[in-house]
Amino acid sequence: MQNKDPLAGRLSEKSASSALYVLCIALFCAAVLLVSFQFLSLRQSFLEDLKVQIRIVSTNSIAAIAFRDAKASEEILRAMQVSSSVDSAAIYTEPGMPFAFYVRGKDSTIAAATTELKNAGYQFQLRHLDLAETVNLNGKPIGLVTLRASLDILYMRLATYALITACVFLASFGIGYLLVGRMRRRVADAEAHLTYLAHTDAITELPNRHAFNKILSQALLDVRQPENHLELILLDLDNFKSVNDSLGHLKGDQLLKAVGERLSSGLRDTDIMCRIGGDEFAIIVGSRNKQHRGRPIAQKIIRALAAPFTIDDHDVFVTASIGTSSSADDKLDIMALTRNADIAMYEAKAKGKNTFEVFKPEMNHLAQKRLSIENNLRKAIANDELTLHYQPKLNLHHNRVTGFEALLRWNSEELGEVSPVEFIPVAEESGLINEIGMWVIRKACEQIAIWERQNLADFKVSVNLSPRQTRNLLLATDILQAMHTAKIDPGRMEIEITETQLMENIDSNIELLAQLRSYGLRLSIDDFGTGYSSMAYLKRFPINELKIDRAFVRDIPGSGEDEAIITSIIALGHGLGLTVIAEGVETKQQLAFLRSVNCDSIQGYYVAKPMPADEVAHFLASLEHNQ
Ligand code: C2E
Ligand code: MG
Ligand code: MG
Repeated sequence: MQNKDPLAGRLSEKSASSALYVLCIALFCAAVLLVSFQFLSLRQSFLEDLKVQIRIVSTNSIAAIAFRDAKASEEILRAMQVSSSVDSAAIYTEPGMPFAFYVRGKDSTIAAATTELKNAGYQFQLRHLDLAETVNLNGKPIGLVTLRASLDILYMRLATYALITACVFLASFGIGYLLVGRMRRRVADAEAHLTYLAHTDAITELPNRHAFNKILSQALLDVRQPENHLELILLDLDNFKSVNDSLGHLKGDQLLKAVGERLSSGLRDTDIMCRIGGDEFAIIVGSRNKQHRGRPIAQKIIRALAAPFTIDDHDVFVTASIGTSSSADDKLDIMALTRNADIAMYEAKAKGKNTFEVFKPEMNHLAQKRLSIENNLRKAIANDELTLHYQPKLNLHHNRVTGFEALLRWNSEELGEVSPVEFIPVAEESGLINEIGMWVIRKACEQIAIWERQNLADFKVSVNLSPRQTRNLLLATDILQAMHTAKIDPGRMEIEITETQLMENIDSNIELLAQLRSYGLRLSIDDFGTGYSSMAYLKRFPINELKIDRAFVRDIPGSGEDEAIITSIIALGHGLGLTVIAEGVETKQQLAFLRSVNCDSIQGYYVAKPMPADEVAHFLASLEHNQ
C-alpha cells in the first residue's frame, strides 16, 4: 500500500506560491524604486545642463542688451539650435514682450517672464521645463533671459530605462519562477519521502503503527452501511524473539520481511496489512454483506506459516497467535476494536499458541482477571505469598523415590489460591517470571540444604524453567551461584524444560543445557510428546530424561494409540540412552501398564500429590514403612 499524504503536497504548493508572490512584490518594488530614482536623477542632470546653457546665454548677451542690439541678441539665442532639447529662448529687457527670441518650430511657445519664474529660477511643467536668468551689468539687472526646454527627451530616456528595468524584472521573475518550481518539486519529493518514512516500516515496507492508526480510524469512518463492517486481525509471532536471539537481528529482519510478504500475498487488494510492533502484525479487513472474513483469514495464516522460511540456508519455523475482532460488535471505535483483537490474541497465546481466537465478550472478564493476577503477582514475593510444593518421582526399578519436582504455589491475599497454570503464563508475559523463577531456584536450593541437614539427601529436586527464563544469558551462572550460596552439590538438582520450549530456540538452548550439564545438573524434557521434536535434535540435546506428557497417560490402559505412543517414547528414550518418566499417573492400572513397557519412573497422584516441604520427611518414612 502506498502512503500518500495529500496534505503534505498541498503544504509545499502553498509555501511555493507564497514564495513566488513575495518574489513578485519584491521585484516590483525594486523596479518602481529604480525607475523613480532614475527619473529624479535624469531630471536633475537635465536641469543642471540647461542652467549652464542659460548662464552662457545671459553672460554672452550683456553687451547686446546694454546696446539694445536686438540682432546680436537673436544671433546669440540662435546658438541654442545645437541643444536639441531647447524649444525656445527669449531675452527680455522689461517685462511683457521679449526683446529678442528664438523658437525651434512653429508650435514652440516662449516662456513668459513671470515673477515666480524669475524668483524660482526654474519651473517644471508637465511637458517642459522653464528657466529664467537675470542679466546683470555692474551689479544692476539690465534684462532677463528665459529658456523653455521640452521634457520629451527626458521622458524618452526614462521610458527606455523603465523598459530595460521591466525586462530585467520579467527575466528575474522568470528565473525565480523556474527556481521556485524546481524547489517546489524538490520539497514535494522530500515531503513525500518523509511521509513515506513516517508511515512505513523500513523492514517489511508495510504501513507502520502510526499509519495503522490512521488507516483504521479512516476505515471505521468509511463503514457506513449496516451490512458492512470491519474486522481486525492481530497476529503475534510466537517464537520470533528466539529466532532473533539465535540467528541474529539481521536474519530476524529478513524473516520478518519474508513473513510480511508471504502473508500479504494471500490477502485481497482491499485488505491492509501493517507491522505494528517488533513481531506484531495487523490486518484490516473490510467485510461486506455481513460476511465474516476474519476467521478464514486467520486459518489461512496458520496454514501459510506451516511451511518453513529459508533464511540463509536455515529452515526457520514460525508460528503465530492470532486474535480477531469485528466492528459489527457494538459499533466499536479504534481503541475498542484493537483492544478486543488484542484480548483474543492473548487468549490464543494462553491456549498454547499457534492458533487463533475470535473475540467474544466473555474474554473481557478473562483479560481483567489476568490483569488482576499480574497486579497481585507483582507483590507476591515481597508479601511472602509464594511457596513450593514437592511431588515425588518414583523409580520403578528400585521402587523408591529418587526425586521431587518443585511446583510453585501462590496463595494470594486478594485472589486466594491461584493455579500455576493460570499465573505462570501471566508471569511469563509480564516478565515477572525472571524474578519468580530465580526465587524458585533459590528456595529449592535452600530446601535441599535443609533436607541435607535432616539427612534426607537421597533424592534430586527438579525445578521447571519457563521460556523467558531460558533466554536470560546469565541463567546458568545464576543457578550455579544459588547452589553455591546454599552450599549444595549441583548433582542434587534437576532442570525441567518443556519440549515445545526447547524446540523454539534450539541452538541457544543446547548451549544453556550443555552449560548446566557441565556444572553437574540433570536435565529432563517436560511434557514430552507434545512438541514435535525431531530425532536429529533430540540427539544433540545434552539431556538425561524424557518426561512423558500427562495427556498420553490419562487414557491408558485402553487407548491403543496412547499405549503405542508411550511404548515408542520409551523405546526412543532408551535408544538414546535416556531414562523415561511418566507424569500424571493416577491409577494402579496405569502403573501396571507403564511397568509392563519398562518405564523407568512415574510421577502422579497415585504416588502422591505435591506436598509442602515439611511433609516430605513424613511421606518418605510412611513409604518405607509400607514397603
Ligand atoms: P508440569 O511441570 O508438567 O507439572 C506437572 C503438573 O501436573 C503439576 O501441576 C502437578 O500438580 C500436576 N500433576 C501431577 N500429578 C498429577 C496427576 O496424577 N494428575 C493430574 N491431573 N495432575 C497431576 P501444577 O502444579 O498445577 O503445575 C502446572 C504447571 O505449571 C507445571 O506443569 C509447570 O509447567 C508450571 N509450573 C509449576 N511450577 C512452576 C515453576 O516453579 N516454574 C515454572 N516455570 N513453571 C512452573
Ligand atoms: Mg514439570
Ligand atoms: Mg509436565
